[in-house]
Amino acid sequence: MNERYSRQILFREIGQAGQEKLLNSRVLLVGCGALGASHAEILARAGVGFLRIVDRDFVELTNLQRQTLYSETDALNRLPKAVAAKNRLAEINSEVEVEEIVADVNHSNIESLLTDIDLVLDGTDNFQIRYLLNDACVKLGKTWIYGAAVSSYGTTMTIFPNKTPCLRCIFEEMPAAGSAPTCDTAGVIQPIISSIAAIQTTEALKILTGNTEKLHQSLMQIDVWNNDWRKIKLGRPNEDCETCAKRNFEFLDAEAGDFSAVLCGRNAVQIAPPRAGAIDLPQLAERLKNLGEVKQNEYLVRFTTGENELTVFSDARAIIRGTDDVAVARALYAKFVGS
Ligand SMILES: [Zn+2]
Repeated sequence: MNERYSRQILFREIGQAGQEKLLNSRVLLVGCGALGASHAEILARAGVGFLRIVDRDFVELTNLQRQTLYSETDALNRLPKAVAAKNRLAEINSEVEVEEIVADVNHSNIESLLTDIDLVLDGTDNFQIRYLLNDACVKLGKTWIYGAAVSSYGTTMTIFPNKTPCLRCIFEEMPAAGSAPTCDTAGVIQPIISSIAAIQTTEALKILTGNTEKLHQSLMQIDVWNNDWRKIKLGRPNEDCETCAKRNFEFLDAEAGDFSAVLCGRNAVQIAPPRAGAIDLPQLAERLKNLGEVKQNEYLVRFTTGENELTVFSDARAIIRGTDDVAVARALYAKFVGS
């Protein structure tokens, strides 16, 4: 152990004792896209003993410019990101235990994902999940590190429930759908991903080794293209905050309703059943093969019909490309996968 981590142990504020703490730490990575892939690599190399990685998507060629864990082969095989990440991390540091979960994070599973976890890193790409994560972490008293990056700028903040402001203390209302730029509309360059991930993972190392007095205690904003770095000092939690003051967990308490449909990126919709259930992928592939082009691996079935492409996962979720109309996506799901 000493050899692998020797340079990190020499760093006095971590030392042997800090390294032991890292090896015994358990971290949840929510999302394993650009930020999440960087979190996973940095924390695995640092020797964080257990990483639970949850991601709903699979690797595509457009990811490779910034999602540093993945390869062309992963994209060709359309491997789920959580699986591709686990494979790559095993090559980097086989001593780290990685639990890969291919799933959509939602109100029905977020609390169980937080079980036995010391710290959560935000590698998601949308505010819906972040508000849900904020609800769950405040409810269960888990520390989490918010991070977001698009274009050449990014933001990060470390949240200790009821000690520091939570996400909702700072951003009271979720931005309206479609109002905020995304990587699919504004593009993104890799260095801002590395910068935000660097701040988030440094905060993680400080927390996990007990160096909390060194936390940056701010809403940090960075624009690597325009050379703008700023820290907005955080005050006390907002006394009127719906989440941390009133403990009104409206995202967590959302009714388990009908199929959910969310836009994910440009021209794609995710359809998820109200409760995740197993689907027989070989049987589905067999059923669809006379209706269009079918490709499959052990994690998913991809079916192309006209201008649409349906990727169905074993938990019965589907990502439907070629439309941003939820009704159209829902109809395609009902027609080809079933309702
Ligand atoms: Zn709050």
